[in-house]
Amino acid sequence: MAKHTAPVKKNEIITLKFEDLTHEGNGVGKIDGYPLFVPYALPGEEAKVKVVKVNKNFGFGKLLEVANQSGERVEPPCNVYYQCGGCQLQHMSYQLQLEMKQNQVKNVMRKIAHLDHVPVHPALGMEDPWRYRNKVQMPVGEKNGELITGFYRMRSHDIIDDMETCVIQDELNDRSVHAVRRIANRLGIKAYDEKADRGVLRHIMVRTGNETNQTMIVLVTRTEKLPHKDELIRELTETFPHVKSIVHNINNKRTNVILGRKTKVIWGEEYIYDTIGDIRFAISAKSFYQVNPPQTKKLYEKALEYADIKSDDIVVDAYCGIGTISLFLAQEAKKVYGVEVVPEAISDAKKNAELNGITNAEFFVGEAEKVMPWWKAQGLKPDVIVVDPPRKGCEVDFLNAMIEMEPERIVYVSCNPSTLARDLRVLEDGGYRALEVQPVDMFPQTNHIECVVKIERSLSN
Ligand code: SAH
Repeated sequence: MAKHTAPVKKNEIITLKFEDLTHEGNGVGKIDGYPLFVPYALPGEEAKVKVVKVNKNFGFGKLLEVANQSGERVEPPCNVYYQCGGCQLQHMSYQLQLEMKQNQVKNVMRKIAHLDHVPVHPALGMEDPWRYRNKVQMPVGEKNGELITGFYRMRSHDIIDDMETCVIQDELNDRSVHAVRRIANRLGIKAYDEKADRGVLRHIMVRTGNETNQTMIVLVTRTEKLPHKDELIRELTETFPHVKSIVHNINNKRTNVILGRKTKVIWGEEYIYDTIGDIRFAISAKSFYQVNPPQTKKLYEKALEYADIKSDDIVVDAYCGIGTISLFLAQEAKKVYGVEVVPEAISDAKKNAELNGITNAEFFVGEAEKVMPWWKAQGLKPDVIVVDPPRKGCEVDFLNAMIEMEPERIVYVSCNPSTLARDLRVLEDGGYRALEVQPVDMFPQTNHIECVVKIERSLSN
């Protein structure tokens, strides 16, 4: 066993000066070179800290009292900020949040991708970084026999029952969640009890179109039956004219995954609509749709600029969701091929092409890492490939197929800088060159950041 060399002990109370921030937003202070990570501490501050965890090379502390508050410290507007696991950065100025995120991207570009020279631009922020989320998935529980809704307490599944409002959430979603809880409570619908795997209502999911204000409510139950369905529908639709669709989803598994397999539209439309720029999108319950519409517009504009599409270009949009990026690309390209693993999203994508009179986009259901090698074997030679994978990034089979297809340009859109950097290394080794990185702040107040990268085939290959 290695003897630990930490200069502090658990439960010790120390004074610490903070120099830096981790990518999670924790303050970093050092004692004799040994770093302690302390949530809610800011660079430049000196504070009293209780040591709560001591590892060999680093430890964690709890902030007790700040001696000299940083000018970047702000009062968090949320009443449960220090309990909720949703936001991590409400205690810092928005400018500092943006700088922290840019630095995080620079760090992974250096440490993981070994691409020190590639410019990482300042993160594109929001003018008003609040109330931006168009989708909420709210857990339902019970306290003293009454239904409660609220996010989970940090690192737990205990519902925070005094959450008045979520300040990063669209107000209509907030109000819709409260209305469902109130009505369901009055009707005597029971909450799902996770520990006992009993009860009915698990989650209330609400999504509202930013431009259209159309709302879809999804009620997730453990049971096949939604008790008092008709009364619930009647009351909801009478109270809220913006509700266009009510969906019942059944999830009878013991799992953290929110939506189950079975989905039934129980009132209204199968879709809600939203527009980004000049394109209209139909969005169904199970489809991915970016959560921050104004920032999505900036992200897609950057992606299009980097893609630099010519009118006779063949383009692949991998991980295309409901065809959002594909349809913008299709307005400029000769032909776009989209691939996506969720069948409902592909059926939305086809509908969206039709809705916008776009005839040069074709969509396929499948895993990108299987479909790309198959397309390659079929002789498909795209000029440009756009990729926008989930947090885990791309599979190596996908990256290799992409390299072998020899597109002139690749645009990589990513919601996880670490896997982005890992994949960029593979692309560089395969003869591609990352030219610039644009971080876009899709998730203000949280420690997440989206990036778009311009990549070109290098002439030496
Ligand atoms: N480009 C879209 C969607 C991006 S989110 C947009 O901007 O809206 C990532 C998408 O990848 C999701 O729709 C998810 O369902 C899909 N996905 C996840 N794993 C995949 C895989 N192995 N192959 C193809 N698509 C996948």
